[in-house]
Amino acid sequence: MELYKSLWEPRAEQHDNERHQQNLEEALDDPSCPICYPINEEEVMEKFRIFWRYYQRICSTITYNVKTIGLFNQLLVIWDRNVPENPERNEKHGKICE
Ligand SMILES: [Zn+2]
Repeated sequence: MELYKSLWEPRAEQHDNERHQQNLEEALDDPSCPICYPINEEEVMEKFRIFWRYYQRICSTITYNVKTIGLFNQLLVIWDRNVPENPERNEKHGKICE
C-alpha cells in the first residue's frame, strides 16, 4: 500500500487532473484509470472473478480494469504453455474453471 501512496496515487491524481479535468492531449497516462480503460462487468469471466477475490485478500487491491483482465489472460496462456502437466494442478485448475 505504501508503493501505491507514494507512486501510483500521485500519478492517478495527475492523470485525472490533466486528462479528465483539463482535457490535455499530452496528459500523463494512468494504466489503472477506470475511465480510460473501462470494463464491461457482464463480460468478466468467472475465472477472473475467482482470481480477483483471492488476490484482493493478499494484496490490498482497490479495483481492476480492462488492462488487469488482459494481463490475467496473458498469464493463463503462459501458465498453460510452461507449467508441466500434473494431476494436482489439473484438479486445482479445473476448480477455478468451473
Ligand atoms: Zn483516465
